[in-house]
Amino acid sequence: MPSPQPRLDAQGLVRRFGGRAVVDDVSIRIAAGEIFCLLGPSGCGKSTTLRMLAGVETPDEGTIRVDGDEVEGPNVSVPPEGRSVGLMFQDFALFPHMSVADNVGFGLSGPRSEKRARVGELLERVHLSRHIDSYPHELSGGEQQRVALARALAPRPLVMLMDEPFSGLDNRLRDGIRDETLGLLKEEGTAVVMVTHEPEEAMRMGDQIALMRDGRIVQQGAPYNLYNSPVDKAAAAFFSDINVIRGTVRGGLTQTAFGDFLAPGYSDGTEVEIVIRPQHLKLDFHRSGLAPLPTAENGVPALGWVRRARYLGRESLVEFEMEFDGSRLQAVVPSVFLPRPNTPFWLLLRRERCHVFAADGPAGLRPTT
Ligand code: ADP
Ligand code: MG
Repeated sequence: MPSPQPRLDAQGLVRRFGGRAVVDDVSIRIAAGEIFCLLGPSGCGKSTTLRMLAGVETPDEGTIRVDGDEVEGPNVSVPPEGRSVGLMFQDFALFPHMSVADNVGFGLSGPRSEKRARVGELLERVHLSRHIDSYPHELSGGEQQRVALARALAPRPLVMLMDEPFSGLDNRLRDGIRDETLGLLKEEGTAVVMVTHEPEEAMRMGDQIALMRDGRIVQQGAPYNLYNSPVDKAAAAFFSDINVIRGTVRGGLTQTAFGDFLAPGYSDGTEVEIVIRPQHLKLDFHRSGLAPLPTAENGVPALGWVRRARYLGRESLVEFEMEFDGSRLQAVVPSVFLPRPNTPFWLLLRRERCHVFAADGPAGLRPTT
C-alpha cells in the first residue's frame, strides 16, 4: 500500500556557519495530525532546523515540501508567510497593545463574522473565552501561552513549528498546558514539529522522536523505541541515568560477574559496555548467603552492598557497591522499599533490558563520510 503523501517532507537539510555544518543532512517526514519532536542537547542544531522549515533561515542544501509543493529547494524559496506554517517560540510575543481577540485574529483574513467565529472557537478550546477583551498584561504566563497557541493555530496552518514552547513556564503549570496543547493540536490535525531538550517532554508529546546530536539525527522512532532500543550509550543516557558494566568479548560472548552476555558481531578482544537503566536491575534479599539460581532471563546474581538509599516519592534510588570489583550500580525500586545502608543484596540484570555497545562509542553510528 502506498504511504500517504507526507504533510511535511524535508530532505537532506544542511546549514553551515563559518564552514561548520550545524545541521548536517537532516531529513524529516511528517503526516497530518502527527507530532514530531526534535530532541537533543543545547547547540545540536534543533532551532536552526526549525528555522529552515519556517523559511527564516535558508538551507545550504536540501529541499522542503509541504503537501507535495516545494517551498525550499535549489531554485525555490517561498517566504514564511507563503508556507502555511504556524510558529510558536519560547519567547512568544503577544502584541501588548491588542486585546486577546485581536491577537488571536491577527493572521486571519476573510469576512469579520468568520474571523470572530474562529477566534471564539479557539478561545473556548483553550478555556479563555472570558478573557476575550483582556490585554496580555492582564493574563498569567500560562494564559498568555495559550493565547499564543490559539493565535498560531487560527489560520489553520498545515504545519505547526514550535521551539521549546513550554520552557518559559514554571514547572507546576507545564504539565497541564502540555496536555491541553497536545489535545488542541490533535483536534486541529496539523503536522507539528516541536523542538525540545527535555526527553520527558518529547515522550509525552511526540508520536515520533528524532534524537539529534552534532547536527545529525542519530535515532528516530516512536518514544517506546528510543527508550527501549537506544542506538548507543549516549542515546540511552539521554533518557535516564544508566549503569555501565564493562567486559571483553571472547568467542562472541562477554563474560561478566552477571554471567555471559551475547555480543554477536564483535571480534575477540573488543571492549564492550553493557548498558542497563536503574529500573531494570532486580534485587533479591541476601538470605544467609544463599544466592538465587541463575536464570536465562536474569543471568547470574552478583553481590552488592547498599551504600546510599534515597526516597523520591514514587520510587527509591538505591546505590550499591559491588563485591566483585567495588564498582557502583544504581537501582530504582518502588518507594515502599527503602533498604538501610550496608545491607547486602543479590543484584540481577534483566537480560532483555541490557544493551551491548562497543566501548568508546560504537563504530557505524555516525556514517563516515
Ligand atoms: P539548538 O537549538 O539545538 O540549541 P541551534 O540550532 O540554535 O541549536 O544552534 C546550533 C549551532 O549553530 C550552535 O553551535 C550555534 O552557536 C550555531 N549557530 C546558530 N545560528 C548561528 C548563526 N546565525 N551564526 C553562527 N552560528 C550559529
Ligand atoms: Mg534552540
